[in-house]
Amino acid sequence: MASPPDTVPTSTTVLIIGGGPGGSYTASVLAREGINVLLLEAEKFPRYHIGESQLASLRHFLRFIDLETEFENHGFTKKLGAAFKLNKYKREGYTDFVFDDPRNYSWNTVRSESDYLMLCHAEKCGATVMQETRVTEIEWDQALRPVAATWKNTQSGHMGHVKFDYLVDASGRAGICAVKYLKNRHYNPISRTLHFGILEWM
Ligand SMILES: Cc1cc2nc3c(=O)[nH]c(=O)nc-3n(C[C@H](O)[C@H](O)[C@H](O)COP(=O)(O)OP(=O)(O)OC[C@H]3O[C@@H](n4cnc5c(N)ncnc54)[C@H](O)[C@@H]3O)c2cc1C
Repeated sequence: MASPPDTVPTSTTVLIIGGGPGGSYTASVLAREGINVLLLEAEKFPRYHIGESQLASLRHFLRFIDLETEFENHGFTKKLGAAFKLNKYKREGYTDFVFDDPRNYSWNTVRSESDYLMLCHAEKCGATVMQETRVTEIEWDQALRPVAATWKNTQSGHMGHVKFDYLVDASGRAGICAVKYLKNRHYNPISRTLHFGILEWM
């Protein structure tokens, strides 16, 4: 997936910021419907990311975009269930993923690899994917609707501008829209103190 700056489109129907699972999945779903999608990702994949433990429900989402078999064949560690401990004074709750279907297991993925599978799949589905391309600014019209973005190639420093009809901000923790413009991302005091442990068995 090369991303020479001069190949970044100057307009698109949907701009997706970020190629993590959120952005890649959205790109796949929309592109499969024939919608013109441009995904800009700041990093070069495969890239390190935390969050390896997947729930069984992931399988159904992957099936919906025809990615389940590739995930299955990749060789991630199979996960047959999980135990959630939300309160250190109470017993954990167990979920047996394969209780009534032995094929309903999930995986402990290597996120760099599973995210890369998803990003490549978005491109296979027809999305235009540009890596090492960071969105630096978003332009808003008078009705406070996002209409265009400025991007910068993180390697060459080359910059460009893209207009769009719809924006999906899938920039994860960076949350460019919420943090830089809307100022509506609030720190959750509960997650700072909540004791949250997940035990897994295979
Ligand atoms: C400590 C911890 C443990 C976790 N454990 C689990 C777990 O076990 N299982 C699980 O399912 N989830 C887990 N999660 C949550 C999981 O990691 C996230 O929910 C998931 O990564 C969110 O995906 P995303 O696509 O929204 O964002 P991300 O995966 O963060 O992707 C965002 C992407 O946007 C790109 N980006 C950011 N800014 C820009 C920009 N301006 N321009 C272009 N690109 C940009 C980034 O480079 C990144 O690739 C954990 C999270 C944490 C913090």
